[in-house]
Amino acid sequence: MADVAESPSLAELLMSRSLSDPELKRATEGAEDYRILPDVSVLKIGGQSLIDRGRAAVFPVVDELVEAKRSHKLLIGTGGGTRARHIYSLAAELGMPTGVLSEVGSAVAGQNAQMLGYLMAKHGVPTVGPSAFGVLPLHIAESGAAIFPGMPPYDLWQPVPGEGVIPPYRTDAGCYLVAETYGCRQMIFVKDEDGLYSANPKNDPSATFIPRVTVDELTALDLPDVIVERPVLELMRHARHVREIQIVNGLRPGLICRALEGEHVGTIISAP
Ligand code: ADP
Ligand code: MG
Repeated sequence: MADVAESPSLAELLMSRSLSDPELKRATEGAEDYRILPDVSVLKIGGQSLIDRGRAAVFPVVDELVEAKRSHKLLIGTGGGTRARHIYSLAAELGMPTGVLSEVGSAVAGQNAQMLGYLMAKHGVPTVGPSAFGVLPLHIAESGAAIFPGMPPYDLWQPVPGEGVIPPYRTDAGCYLVAETYGCRQMIFVKDEDGLYSANPKNDPSATFIPRVTVDELTALDLPDVIVERPVLELMRHARHVREIQIVNGLRPGLICRALEGEHVGTIISAP
């Protein structure tokens, strides 16, 4: 890394060219990508799909996370869910812009992280917001796991979508970006379906299961709806580290641990 920082050509390019200059961009790729937390696995616990189901869904997931933590280092992100949808509907009806929806909606993922944190407190698992990410490595080293709100802290700076006002980067994207930025071992989405289907199985009983698919194949399928936020698929196209994700059913006991062991127990989506 030091070599690259001192490389005259990169330094010269950075002083003389625009930061979007193609040659400059290529030159910044000289160093090997560095994994910050390579042995940590990121899990996203669904808001609407799991936490909103209350005790019946949440307690078994907590038990499994406690079990998983014995043999895996975990970063556990939370979704928002129904309360986030409620505030989005209210704010949209009031004519609020995307940035405001993003700001008010992120509170809900924070509440879910807080509650999951209290449930796991006796196992030594802390909850950390984005401003405290600097101490994440300490928490992981000390307790083997930490919980964070999955919503990326874009708040007012959330990119505006092509249509409507719903923030495009929500908790799936937020958790994925943590995994990718920290060069984590794997990214597992824990939801309430066995994985990806040809359509939303909740309103199309003829939907068929898709065990494995690439981002390109999935884009070509042009499905009416998918189980992860679509921006995650776009982010995966440029992934340096986390080039596949797995979606598993958190309502089926044991699948979180098996997925952490590298077993294919849901749908695996891989970068093109
Ligand atoms: P989270 O709780 O993590 O936010 P969501 O509720 O946003 O999860 O997404 C999971 C839901 O996506 C599933 O419960 C399912 O009803 C829905 N879904 C939509 N399209 C699909 C699809 N093609 N395959 C599987 N599930 C789908
Ligand atoms: Mg969602």
